[in-house]
Amino acid sequence: MITVASAASAAYIVAALLFILALDGLSRHETAKVGNTFGIAGMTLALAATIALAIDRDIEGSGLGLLVVAMIIGAAIGLWRARVVEMTGMPELIAALHSFVGLAAVLVGWNGYLEVENDPHGAEAAHLNALSTLGIHHAEVFIGVFVGAVTFTGSIIAFLKLSARMKSKPLVLPGKNLLNLGTLVVFVGLTVWFVIQPQLWLLVVVTLLALALGLHLVASIGGGDMPVVVSMLNSYSGWAAAASGFLLENDLLIVTGALVGSSGAYLSYIMCQAMNRSFLSVIAGGFGIEAGPSAGGDLGSHRETSVAEVAELLSAASSVVIAPGYGMAVAQAQYGVADLTKVLRDKGIQVRFAIHPVAGRLPGHMNVLLAEAKVPYDIVLEMDEVNDDFAATDVVLVIGANDTVNPAAAEDPSSPIAGMPVLRVWEATDVVVLKRSMASGYAGVPNPLFHRDNTGMLFGDAKDQVTAIIAGLR
Ligand code: NDP
Repeated sequence: MITVASAASAAYIVAALLFILALDGLSRHETAKVGNTFGIAGMTLALAATIALAIDRDIEGSGLGLLVVAMIIGAAIGLWRARVVEMTGMPELIAALHSFVGLAAVLVGWNGYLEVENDPHGAEAAHLNALSTLGIHHAEVFIGVFVGAVTFTGSIIAFLKLSARMKSKPLVLPGKNLLNLGTLVVFVGLTVWFVIQPQLWLLVVVTLLALALGLHLVASIGGGDMPVVVSMLNSYSGWAAAASGFLLENDLLIVTGALVGSSGAYLSYIMCQAMNRSFLSVIAGGFGIEAGPSAGGDLGSHRETSVAEVAELLSAASSVVIAPGYGMAVAQAQYGVADLTKVLRDKGIQVRFAIHPVAGRLPGHMNVLLAEAKVPYDIVLEMDEVNDDFAATDVVLVIGANDTVNPAAAEDPSSPIAGMPVLRVWEATDVVVLKRSMASGYAGVPNPLFHRDNTGMLFGDAKDQVTAIIAGLR
């Protein structure tokens, strides 16, 4: 006989498959929209099955009422934020959302404790005892609370840093790596203690310890290293959700949490490689210590150029590469850039885009903006695909990019971003940098590119300047 529980289990399997298809779809531009649709379908199914299960398990009337009210409030806030958020504000929004996942895992863990360990003669404890899984439950509570609390405070600090409400400079406490490692060792010891003898004070201590660890881990990461933090916290939030899944005996939450956790960890690994950082040192939280304040120093003078000069340079070029960065997103210049691309291509000039893996403030930030402006995918190239071509390029337009085109990373071993692979735009015959001033980028490191002989600085808002260049070309 088909029961609600068995139907929900079947729905969970289908939803899990839809989530896997969603991840697969989202990994390529061409299939991203379909991937998103799979994700929406999977989530709708998951919600429907969970609600049906809750009704079937005879949630009291008030509980169901609360569920509906919480969903309406959550959906309203979600819709509102999704509508108003700017592309440049996405990273901090994502960090804020991760903090909710962490908080939820802490609350689920605490609820699990109050229901079972705190009430050893209650129905839930008897149920787990009958299954001989009470010891496992103790461990789940403790680990879930720990991972959730680290994610919670870590994400709040990431939110504050990404939204510039807090300085992105790393916090450097003496013996910071020992502090992190020591906390982990204490956590393991407390977990063993709690499994043997669950007590309220142990849970209080681990919660406070994990809150402090999350705060310290992310506060000690600085400047240009933040992209990896965003994807690491994504991974942590996945593991926190999986831990909640075990506590709530919800298989789909376990699968989904594991998918998010492992894909976030893999993305972090890829980003570490792209930035020439060690993955292990990120996990240990000893990351970004190098990204201190800028070295400063006199880099010499710079040459200012004009819209007319740039238009002339472009007209005479046969190959142009555009390297966009965070400034293009701030200026919302992507539509103008797409128009400029069309004008140049119509003149028979080869135009390609060079995308650095951490350009902007979010993995894939530039790709999303260019796709939104309908720039053809096949001329949008990754760093490795285009880096060897700069030497044979006539003009490079750097539009609101800075750290990702900084030659100091390749040439100055004392630079805070030394070793980070960058777009070697300076190898082109001419480079034009569109930005508003001589200010540094997110990592706070001065950029010698702006002072090179073959570089012209075109100051002003990227959108206005691109529009003016198009007018000049016409
Ligand atoms: P940067 O932050 O290095 O530089 C952006 C430049 O854009 C600034 O120097 C700024 O100069 C200019 N700019 C800002 N507004 C405008 C405007 N309206 N018009 C024209 N120019 C403008 O950007 P990159 O993309 O090169 O590098 C990304 C940086 O962000 C890296 O350090 C990366 O590590 C970090 N990061 C990346 C994340 C990711 O996941 N991709 C996440 C978090 C951080 P000015 O003020 O003079 O105009």
